[in-house]
Amino acid sequence: MIKILMLLFLVGCGDQFQDKRFLAPIPVTNQVRPTLLSEDFRPFVEQFYIDAEKRDVATSTMVESVGFIDDYGEGMDTIGRCSEFYTHQSGPVTRKVTVLRSDWDASTDIHRKLVLYHELGHCALGLHHTEESQQIMAKYALPDIFAELNWDELVNTLFTTRPDGSINLTDHEEGEL
Ligand SMILES: [Zn+2]
Repeated sequence: MIKILMLLFLVGCGDQFQDKRFLAPIPVTNQVRPTLLSEDFRPFVEQFYIDAEKRDVATSTMVESVGFIDDYGEGMDTIGRCSEFYTHQSGPVTRKVTVLRSDWDASTDIHRKLVLYHELGHCALGLHHTEESQQIMAKYALPDIFAELNWDELVNTLFTTRPDGSINLTDHEEGEL
């Protein structure tokens, strides 16, 4: 019974991109790190940017912060989110990553890494969800399965997926997490 419950435990992501105009192109610049609102995030976020630099992949300068949230208020499966904030119609945009605190506290490091890489995939790389279930940008992830996968391959796929490319990209559909 416990096994079944574990398998049914889905990880949902609520990305909130309002407008695809801001997804691409991503500004090419030195890797600017977001402000970490908790030291819990540091090893994972640092590794994300090191992984980007190793592969010569530019990240967005618009990622302002990574922080915890206690409640998303809707969509109870949501455990992480990349949100965009606008000053005006065509003005600067900032992006913030939030992670559900209760999920983080109950999670393994693999799961935490998956959540942060996924949300930074949205916020820092401008990626949409992929239809493939066993990729970092899958909308729903089964943490138990990810523990079995080759993380290096997952990361390679993440950083070789381009916002303006055609591989592994889908639009976020309204109403989905
Ligand atoms: Zn997502």
